[in-house]
Amino acid sequence: MPYKSVLLIDFDIKLPRDWMKAYKEIVPIILKHFKLEFKEMLIHKSKICRDCGRSRTDFDKNLKNYKKCIFCNSKRLKYGRGFHCFIKVSGRKLTPKEIVRLQFLLLSDCHKEILGLKKIEKGFPYFNKLFSFVIFRKPPKSKCIDCKIRQNVMKMMGKF
Ligand SMILES: [Zn+2]
Repeated sequence: MPYKSVLLIDFDIKLPRDWMKAYKEIVPIILKHFKLEFKEMLIHKSKICRDCGRSRTDFDKNLKNYKKCIFCNSKRLKYGRGFHCFIKVSGRKLTPKEIVRLQFLLLSDCHKEILGLKKIEKGFPYFNKLFSFVIFRKPPKSKCIDCKIRQNVMKMMGKF
């Protein structure tokens, strides 16, 4: 029986619909190159609290029922731009280093994957995590908040 794995892909941006369609088409081809078979792709979206900035990630059907922030009870929630992608594959057993390299190649957040690689090299067993909740965001430095370039970039990214 073929070995099964789940790749954890972290996207911090919202993809245009046609980019997402192209991504879904190219993933099985990349996996085939590494002698793996694509089985299924599951997507978790996120909802962010406009008042405390914390977020929750889950299947969209569950997020539709998430009407109140569990941290501050605010009802001012909005969908976040990022999402998590769970890609089920079958074939051979993957080493931890192969997993983080594949996730990087499948466009997962490069910081997450480099951190994963460093954890593997240090012998840390939990090298591959996606978090369902963001409970703390480091606030930007005050000099950055007033920066016009940052404000314009954030507007373009839909963060304001
Ligand atoms: Zn909140």
